[in-house]
Amino acid sequence: MYEELLNSLLKGELSLHRLDSLVGDSNKATYLRREYLERKLNLKLEKIASSILDFNEVIGRNCENTIGAVQVPLGVAGPLLVRGEYAKGEYYVPLATTEGALVASINRGCKAITLSGGASATKVISDYMARAPVFKLGSLEDALKFVKWVKDNFQLIKEVAESTTRYGRLLSIKPYLIGRYVWLRMLFSTGDAMGMNMVTIASQKAVELMEREFPGVKCVSLSGNMCVDKKPAFLNELEGRGKSVISEALVKEDVVREVLKASPEAIVEVNIVKNLLGSARAGSLSFNAHFANIIAAVFLATGQDLAQVVESSMGYTWVELRGGDLYVSVTLPSLEVGTVGGGTRLPTQREALEIMGCYGPGDPPGSNARKFAEIVASAVLAGELSLLAALSAGHLARAHERLGRGKA
Ligand code: NAP
Repeated sequence: MYEELLNSLLKGELSLHRLDSLVGDSNKATYLRREYLERKLNLKLEKIASSILDFNEVIGRNCENTIGAVQVPLGVAGPLLVRGEYAKGEYYVPLATTEGALVASINRGCKAITLSGGASATKVISDYMARAPVFKLGSLEDALKFVKWVKDNFQLIKEVAESTTRYGRLLSIKPYLIGRYVWLRMLFSTGDAMGMNMVTIASQKAVELMEREFPGVKCVSLSGNMCVDKKPAFLNELEGRGKSVISEALVKEDVVREVLKASPEAIVEVNIVKNLLGSARAGSLSFNAHFANIIAAVFLATGQDLAQVVESSMGYTWVELRGGDLYVSVTLPSLEVGTVGGGTRLPTQREALEIMGCYGPGDPPGSNARKFAEIVASAVLAGELSLLAALSAGHLARAHERLGRGKA
């Protein structure tokens, strides 16, 4: 049977995605797709074949047309002392990366922060996921009437949207207009889920209600790009999306000099000239050194949606002298993370979340995802601190030569 299927694939009579239902086992379908590619491309994919995944759990949830898995090295930074509202204590942060020197650098920042008493205040200041469908109306007058109808019927829209989920709650709807087009930015709390699927399903129901009840309104697209998902945008930076998190620490002068091998004054200067002036001159949306490095490595390790690194790594780093000590804060307006759903349930990603005590639903719902967000923001603080120190002391190229070119 396998040879027949492979021949059909090779002759182009069968598409790869049909194998799962045809053989009734996605592990076998995965094997067949890989075998087909090996024959067609005349190469061996034995490393990609080596995986612990049960593809019956993956198909229909996380990936289609599976052929195996890639492996990425996983390191750990810590202990990192976090004094958040939900994360309290010392944590090891799992980081999946192929960039030599990254984990070592974040680890150094963790040491400096922990020795100084921890990321002393780390707080989620807002928490919601947004979906913004766009509607077409006959005229500006109709558009304004529609906006009023949405405002007057918020309770009904909320009930209909929330009928699709046990955890999603519609918090508010903010309208934006261009001519006769209306965008409704619908904001939901999503418990411990990052929430993108949850709010999309809920928004679809709300849109169906609007189209049924308001004469002449037509939804052009369930996502009108004012959500804003997976694109850099000031809207997320201003209004937030996912968790808006701030983390700060006061790093002692002797720790700056001994652990970070830098002077507090030089770090302040690099932050102002690089992160503030340089970013302004470049017209950047982000005034930080490398939030994306830490965010990407944590997202990959813990099964977050990788494309959301785009907006999750926007944000600001602030550094100032306090006496001889160094005050440092990072502000992440749009950190989109979850501890249930998406890729978090995959076996290695789940274990990575368990390292921080963050896997699964929290009690009350939402508390686990907020704890995780606080740990991520504190790790970003550690990463920023360490890189700014390395740049201020002229150590960046040296560290990368040693740890990125196999000369350790
Ligand atoms: P999800 O896995 O689709 O939904 C979360 C599930 O967990 C829901 O079924 C929810 O129950 C359940 N749940 C159990 N305990 C929970 C708790 N304590 N808090 C919250 N939910 C709990 O995940 P999602 O976060 O909504 O969506 C993430 C996925 O969306 C990722 O795979 C991402 O790649 C993908 N994504 C989708 C879009 C899109 O447009 N659809 C865009 C970008 C990314 P209920 O069913 O009762 O709510």
